[in-house]
Amino acid sequence: MAAHSSVLSVSRIINRLWGRHLGNTVKPLPAKYGGRHTVTLIPGDGIGPELLTHVREVFRFSCVPVDFEVVHVNSALEAEDDIDNAITAIRRNGVALKGNIETKHTMPPSVKSRNNLLRTSLDLYANVMHCQSLPGVQTRHRNIDIMIIRENTEGEYSNLEHESVSGVVESLKIITRSNSLRIAEYAFQLAREKGRRKVTAVHKANIMKLGDGLFLQCCREVASGYPDITYDSMIVDNTTMQLVSKPQQFDVMVMPNLYGNIVSNVCAGLVGGPGLVPGANYGRDYAVFETATRNTGKSVAGKNVANPTAMLLASCMMLDHLKLYNYANLIRNAVLTTMNETRLHTADLGGQGTTSEVVQSIMRIIQSKGQLTADM
Ligand code: ATP
Repeated sequence: MAAHSSVLSVSRIINRLWGRHLGNTVKPLPAKYGGRHTVTLIPGDGIGPELLTHVREVFRFSCVPVDFEVVHVNSALEAEDDIDNAITAIRRNGVALKGNIETKHTMPPSVKSRNNLLRTSLDLYANVMHCQSLPGVQTRHRNIDIMIIRENTEGEYSNLEHESVSGVVESLKIITRSNSLRIAEYAFQLAREKGRRKVTAVHKANIMKLGDGLFLQCCREVASGYPDITYDSMIVDNTTMQLVSKPQQFDVMVMPNLYGNIVSNVCAGLVGGPGLVPGANYGRDYAVFETATRNTGKSVAGKNVANPTAMLLASCMMLDHLKLYNYANLIRNAVLTTMNETRLHTADLGGQGTTSEVVQSIMRIIQSKGQLTADM
């Protein structure tokens, strides 16, 4: 009884500390001048710049009250000045939309992933991705509706590696109690807010008994404060097998960083691929939106063939975050109508549509809703 009530009080304290910091209640408020929001826009590499040009085109056309402050990050440079500027801009504006910044494996180990630096510097501890089957996209499995909550700032992404003796490298995985509690709390709160019934914690605590064991223990503690939501846990290898054979069994999933990367990619593949699913990174103070699987898509860049859906839906998540719900719904519905009813698909979905044809279809649907629009 005493143990149970101390668990509940942990949950209550966490609630007070982080509970009100789910994506849509982040403080401080994002930059807003004269009724318009300013958002940092980082084009990134590969297909990032062209997809974000399309987002700007759709926003301008739909008269969305958002101005973008464009900040370029050059992934070929070893110096961190570019990414520092981008981080400062996000601190100023509160919100960003970004393409993925390439991390070249050929760079020395001292050069850290810019994407990772951005997330850790801004303490964007929760990565959120919603994978849902789309009626207009043919896939092996139907009726998938999974929310993935991925710890986003520690785990295997600690950048702590060293060669202790020649030929022996140690890569450190960091799991902290404080971060594990807040990511678990985030998952359960989101589950409750969205009327979800089950949260599954993904781990490998049979091998990483201390690290993943601590993560699992934190999930269990937080779960005890949510008796209305079923809690279970699953080992990561079984999880990936269950996902590809019976994905409908999953509802909300919460997991450490690297498992999150793998599970997100599996789930994106299950509902149609990386071109479809948006993602968000939330912290207490800032929010950054991007495609869920964070691809640069170099191989399809500059050919007018990339699927713009994931980035456009990420921009809608951003509009929700700014509480511009009408604009978010308008654009989201037009994107989904193009995908599901018009069925104008790009090559990644087996279609023959170009990126610009899909974007034009989306704008025509927006216009047909009687919304005030600018010139095409
Ligand atoms: P990288 O050098 O970053 O590995 P890549 O293009 O080889 O670049 P990813 O960026 O990891 O690989 O993307 C994985 C696959 O998904 C690639 O085949 C890529 O073309 C495809 N892809 C990613 N995003 C999109 C998109 N928006 N539309 C169509 N295909 C996409």
